[in-house]
Amino acid sequence: MTAEADHPSLDNLHFDNRFIRELPGDPEPDNFRRQVYNACYSWALPKRVKQPQLVAYSREMAEALDLSPEICESDDFSQIFVGNRLATGMQAYAMCYGGHQFGHWAGQLGDGRAIILGEVINSQGQRLTLQLKGAGLTPYSRSADGLAVLRSSVREFLCSEAMHHLGVPTTRALSLILTGEQVVRDMFYDGNPQIEAGAVVCRVAQSFTRFGNFQLFTARDDIDSLKKLVDYTIRTDFPELGEPSVPVYLSWFAEVCRRTAEMIVHWQRVGFVHGVMNTDNMSILGLTIDYGPYGWLENFDPDWTPNTTDAKGRRYRFGNQAKIAYWNLVQLANALYPLILRAESLQTALLSYTNTFDAGWQAMMAAKLGLNAFEATEDEALVNDLFALMTAAETDMTLFFRQLADIDLATESQCQADFLAMLTNTSYEPLSEELIERASLWLKVYQLRSLRDGRSHAARRDSMNAVNPKYVLRNYLAQMAIDNAEQGDFALVNELLDVLRKPYAEQPGKESFAAKRPDWAKQRAGCSMLSCSS
Ligand code: AMP
Ligand code: MG
Repeated sequence: MTAEADHPSLDNLHFDNRFIRELPGDPEPDNFRRQVYNACYSWALPKRVKQPQLVAYSREMAEALDLSPEICESDDFSQIFVGNRLATGMQAYAMCYGGHQFGHWAGQLGDGRAIILGEVINSQGQRLTLQLKGAGLTPYSRSADGLAVLRSSVREFLCSEAMHHLGVPTTRALSLILTGEQVVRDMFYDGNPQIEAGAVVCRVAQSFTRFGNFQLFTARDDIDSLKKLVDYTIRTDFPELGEPSVPVYLSWFAEVCRRTAEMIVHWQRVGFVHGVMNTDNMSILGLTIDYGPYGWLENFDPDWTPNTTDAKGRRYRFGNQAKIAYWNLVQLANALYPLILRAESLQTALLSYTNTFDAGWQAMMAAKLGLNAFEATEDEALVNDLFALMTAAETDMTLFFRQLADIDLATESQCQADFLAMLTNTSYEPLSEELIERASLWLKVYQLRSLRDGRSHAARRDSMNAVNPKYVLRNYLAQMAIDNAEQGDFALVNELLDVLRKPYAEQPGKESFAAKRPDWAKQRAGCSMLSCSS
């Protein structure tokens, strides 16, 4: 019997590996660390590992790939998506890119521990690129090992799927598989290396191209390769814009600006902090990509960042994400300049970021508050006062907006009492007299403003509940799932995956996943602070 006959379905995936077929590749076949010039990718085979063990897979992603549960639970699935076997049609390679890290140009970075297996065309005709993260060394691994540990892989796997179900543009995750091998990590770079379990996540996206892929060519004055990659990206991922030309380059860049703005508005809506918005971690498709030391706001705090590596400058704090995305787009504009040679037109295109973000943010805030539309003259102060109140009271962002929907504003004194009780319950600090007074005043303004819109309580509540999730991947929940998984118990990973499928639904019986952060999690590593070590 042939291998194909043994494993009919995984070998029957339809691959169309266009990226490597149409773009210049690195001629060097061997896998060693180096600078790679004039190429979009290098060959890199995944490392063979001892004992793959499936931790979890995404049902929805499997369905999109036309894979049945039987296939996903088969040994062959684990062997393939840990990197031990290439299915028919797979071609393994790593992408070449550079990037600005923490505001500084870092030169060549590349997929140091990501290996693409190919591009599947599914039965709907969609292009889905499969990528293993943590499957071993590539020419871009620099001084690192090409591996990933279970803790960061659980976080990437769960958050990718959670974000998708929240309606946030994101790369997806098909599977999470233990390698059966050990990896050494010094989690806080403090001279305390530990042995951790190795794992591989299979990520899925239309493409994994980043701002940094374009930047590296321009930095090296390789305009020929830059043009090839831009033309390819437009033809493959933005065909609706037309055949590449200078005007199309401009409308494409404006579209990247627009998509990036929409992504950031979503992050601000759900309280997501990416943590490492370097230009190599910015998707050209406007997808959230590279889940490292990300985190979710618990107590509302615009200055919060989960990333200990960024603790000093707080460049990537919650309240700075919109500015940083713009800064990153300016770097992309600089990278595209040699093809366009019109600085003013690029400036104009950048306006589509600002305009989309401003309009999107206002509409988003109005929706979170259950208002028909954002009326800048009044609502700006309404939002600012609320954020100041929530910051001072250390109010849980997710719980507050969800429970605000339950306050019936048509009642007079009852709604004041309900609101103060709700604010007390959802805050991590007790409310001072002064805060109680500010809260009462805020509610009065909000009540008048909201009643003017004329919505019924039920209509207001339902519309708010559609944009204010009840369930997000709270930092401590992810850590509990990790703690259990490290003991060989994957039930919580799978239960969280399930609950986070319907983040806007009430889900009776699952309320413990929508609880305030417990005290033990306030300062615990992994819950409130994370490093880039993963
Ligand atoms: P990040 O900002 O974490 O997305 O990664 C920055 C760069 O470091 C990228 O080029 C990664 O591929 C690379 N990198 C991160 N961790 C590893 C690792 N364990 N092995 C090899 N390369 C890595
Ligand atoms: Mg990265």
